[in-house]
Amino acid sequence: MARKVITEITCDACKKKGSGDVPATVELTIGEDAYDLCEEHGERFRVMLGEALGGPTNTALSA
Ligand SMILES: [Zn+2]
Repeated sequence: MARKVITEITCDACKKKGSGDVPATVELTIGEDAYDLCEEHGERFRVMLGEALGGPTNTALSA
């Protein structure tokens, strides 16, 4: 018998902001902390971290 488990991953930043459950497409992991983010928040944090760290070292990964 096949069993299908559907796990809904939602954006942590949207939830904190009070925007409800927005599907997450980006996973951000720093050390032992992991965050799930929607496309918009993922991009925002990606830019923030890129600026904080002096720019991306491998832009090919964003393709
Ligand atoms: Zn979000």
